[in-house]
Amino acid sequence: MLDFAIIGGGPAGLTAGLYSTRGGLQNVTMFEKGLPGGQITQSSEIENYPGQIEVVTGLELMDKWPEQCKRFGLKHDMNEVLQVTKSNDVFTLTLGNHEKVEAKSVLIATGSVPKPANIKGEAEFFGKGVSTCATCDGFFYKGKDVAVIGGGDTAVEEAIFLANICKTVYIIHRRDKFRASPHEVEKMNKHKNIIQILENNTNEIIGDTTGVTGLIIEDKKTNEQKTLDVLGVFVFVGRDVLNAPLKQDDGSFLCDMNESGEVIVNLNMNTSVKGLFAAGDIRIDAPKQVVCASGDGAIAGIQAISYLQ
Ligand SMILES: Cc1cc2nc3c(=O)[nH]c(=O)nc-3n(C[C@H](O)[C@H](O)[C@H](O)COP(=O)(O)OP(=O)(O)OC[C@H]3O[C@@H](n4cnc5c(N)ncnc54)[C@H](O)[C@@H]3O)c2cc1C
Repeated sequence: MLDFAIIGGGPAGLTAGLYSTRGGLQNVTMFEKGLPGGQITQSSEIENYPGQIEVVTGLELMDKWPEQCKRFGLKHDMNEVLQVTKSNDVFTLTLGNHEKVEAKSVLIATGSVPKPANIKGEAEFFGKGVSTCATCDGFFYKGKDVAVIGGGDTAVEEAIFLANICKTVYIIHRRDKFRASPHEVEKMNKHKNIIQILENNTNEIIGDTTGVTGLIIEDKKTNEQKTLDVLGVFVFVGRDVLNAPLKQDDGSFLCDMNESGEVIVNLNMNTSVKGLFAAGDIRIDAPKQVVCASGDGAIAGIQAISYLQ
């Protein structure tokens, strides 16, 4: 029986592991289906993590976090958690290898995944020109033309990253101005090879057996359609939370959530179920930043100790 089971090894899960083990819990395991670090390891450039003056990649930022946690006794199980249930004050986790593990308390910190833009051709050409990770796939388009769909911080940051590799980067956004911070937009404005296309919808991603060959966009004011010849399309239109492990056999969820599936928590990261905590991008009103996810994780780790006492 684990004292504390942490699901997800991103900034929230790792920090909860650090605080709970360093605070005295002996039997804490973090279940992470991949390598620890979380989604930030896909980012090419972090410049807003406090105290980190040099601009680093996500991989660099997260490099030492698992090692620090291990020092205080956090165990890492490279396994997916398929389901969490609770009965008689005991949680049961069903793992990807179908083993079952019991725990006295649980943190769900599974974060989020890219939202599809639901554009015709997006699913068909995913992995064949359509991508949601510029750091992972940008290099394939060295010296070529690509498009970015989206207008938030991630879309703008990744357009800048691609501009250093690709010949031309079209950034297409359906609104009349970018949602990204003015600082990011200012940085983007300095790149002459980023062509900003506002108030346009993307109607279709087109291609052939070799992969993506273009994108059909439509001006929202004039309804005029245009084809952009690009070989890569990077979609950054927001993220969906990963709450599947909370789904019960009868289709209900283990704890309360809002209409977007984000877990409702209080300031102590308590969910509606005693002993179940949620932290990071998966919780309601999450600012979706590393420092915030990490702060949530610290709170959850401290609160798990109090709960078990
Ligand atoms: C391209 C990009 C750029 C970004 N840029 C910045 C930035 O500049 N500054 C900033 O502060 N933030 C940035 N962010 C946001 C930041 O990465 C997130 O807010 C943060 O990582 C959230 O942390 P988390 O621990 O809640 O979740 P995540 O980082 O998503 O970690 C969740 C982990 O849980 C694992 N997992 C999921 N489901 C399961 C399961 N069922 N079983 C086991 N493991 C599971 C996943 O593999 C993942 O490792 C960026 C994100 C992206 C994608």
